[in-house]
Amino acid sequence: MADRSDAIRNRHQQEQRGTSDRGWYVDGEKLEEFGIESWKASEGNNYIAIIPPHVADRYFGEEIYVHYDVGVRGSALLCPSMMKRKYCPICAERKRLQSKGVADEDTLKQLRYSRRWLYFIVDMRDDETEAKGIQLYDGPPTIDKAILALSTDPRDPENGPVKDISHQEEGYTLIFKREGTALNTKYSAFVLEKFTEPLKDEWLEQVPEFEEILVWMSADEIEEEFKGAADPEPKHQAEAPEEDDVEVRTYDTDEEPEAEDKSQEEKVNEVKDKVRKRSSRRGR
Ligand SMILES: [Zn+2]
Repeated sequence: MADRSDAIRNRHQQEQRGTSDRGWYVDGEKLEEFGIESWKASEGNNYIAIIPPHVADRYFGEEIYVHYDVGVRGSALLCPSMMKRKYCPICAERKRLQSKGVADEDTLKQLRYSRRWLYFIVDMRDDETEAKGIQLYDGPPTIDKAILALSTDPRDPENGPVKDISHQEEGYTLIFKREGTALNTKYSAFVLEKFTEPLKDEWLEQVPEFEEILVWMSADEIEEEFKGAADPEPKHQAEAPEEDDVEVRTYDTDEEPEAEDKSQEEKVNEVKDKVRKRSSRRGR
């Protein structure tokens, strides 16, 4: 019987990896080629098995640094400065604004990078989720901290015995609870549950390298995305407030802006709000 399930699932996937025109640091097409979906922790309990990388002595999680909400398209891009010690136009701009002291906290915050952790996992909730095979989990640093705490000896984390929760036979399912949404999301009740059966050979064979699914942009491409040059319509909206913003901020501090300029500032803020809302509506 034909139904809408596939269409809804596809739409869900599209939503998860961002709208098609928006830059994203995970290559959606590559994931599709590998037959890997993005996994998100659901409200309540979660059960994941981390699939080990092919390289035997490599850590199973990949630390990434991401600039979110970049430019008018609200793209999310890897920070070349934090990840490859290369020039990052966004970090450079943040430093420039910071040293000039012309930007407010929000603007500076907007230009900051966020730390995330990627894992290839299998959802061990039930047979159905397990049958989905490998999925990509893009989690906050809290998850990795919890994994480390559970994998090491609390009395001697540096030299004591460690558990490799991604070990094919001797590994563990990570169980944790997610509560709340967006900025109020909390993760708690982390426990490990020993595998009752080993991870499937096919998972270990199929798991990609993180490098294969990450999207790297050149400094020029980041710059372009950042300035919003790719989209002429919104570009005007997004750049105008920036220019005006600087003007508004050149007032002598003890001088009251004139009425006309005040409304100018309000206008600028309105446009800024709109731009911000537009990009945040696209979700993260
Ligand atoms: Zn950066």
